[in-house]
Amino acid sequence: MESQKQFKRRFSFEFFPPKTEQGKEKLQTVRNQLAEVNPDFFSVTFGAGGSTRDRTIETVLNLHKQGISTAPHLSCVGGTRQEIGELLDVYKENGINRIVALRGDLPSGMGASGELRYANELVEFIREHSGDHFNLEVAAYPEFHPQARNAEEDLKNFARKVQAGANSAITQYFFNADSYFYFIDRLEKMGVTIPVVPGIMPIVNFSSLVRFSDMCGAEIPRWIRKQLESYGDDTTSIRKFGEEVITEMCEKLLKAGAPGLHFYTLNQAQPSLSIWENLGISDREKIAF
Ligand code: FAD
Repeated sequence: MESQKQFKRRFSFEFFPPKTEQGKEKLQTVRNQLAEVNPDFFSVTFGAGGSTRDRTIETVLNLHKQGISTAPHLSCVGGTRQEIGELLDVYKENGINRIVALRGDLPSGMGASGELRYANELVEFIREHSGDHFNLEVAAYPEFHPQARNAEEDLKNFARKVQAGANSAITQYFFNADSYFYFIDRLEKMGVTIPVVPGIMPIVNFSSLVRFSDMCGAEIPRWIRKQLESYGDDTTSIRKFGEEVITEMCEKLLKAGAPGLHFYTLNQAQPSLSIWENLGISDREKIAF
């Protein structure tokens, strides 16, 4: 973990672009609550195959102009160089200087994979098109990407994104800090040293967590799964247990030198805020670890 300790810590919250007027109002309330703790940035997801393109742009620009730097996610699958280039120009013209660059996943049955096949090609394209204007974040998978041929190949593919010009990474969420420590260790041995910020998923709902984790290849350890199962529909107990477990994991990560945390908020403020407050992150100077 030594390589990670040299980086300044940064803390961020991720949203998805709302579909309805009601969703927009809710996000505005969530944004206001989270802005109070002064995160380093917000980020906004991008639907597979460009399906949320306009909503992502609208949400990003709206959040950004309210004073907290906001980073769009941008996935290349299904898109052309020209479309992606136009999007980059819109963001640059509007003062956006950070992008989360991804391959993305095409929904089954939805057309061809596009001109850029992998995230390393997208990073390369963004550097060609916009030079060093954007700070580029890429995705990292401490438990490995579900489609990876093997662990070794996945690490090499991660390194390709760094060689192409990525500045830092955000991980897929995980519930086992050792997978993150091992991942960083493997990167260090390969000489890959960029900040790799753990992505944190607060636990609020058992069935959707299981569904989502199966899809993205995040493992829910048996002891967490069993405990959550035992609460049935008792959401108060699920949230309380989830908050304790995730707070402890974040503490362990930060104590070991993780360069910050990125919260998958799912457009809810309180689950992330409770963990944030338990950790005392707002008082960055006095943070106990
Ligand atoms: P890549 O880095 O391209 O890797 C994908 C797979 O291909 C891996 O198995 C890798 O080993 C392999 N691979 C990579 N490069 C090569 C190569 N050159 N040759 C051969 N094989 C290669 N999805 C969305 O749709 N919208 C979002 O907003 C979004 N945000 C995300 C944010 C974060 C922080 C994370 C961790 C994930 C996010 N995702 C999002 C999910 C992501 O799009 C999927 O996990 C997708 O399947 C992989 O994207 P990637 O950028 O990691 O792909």
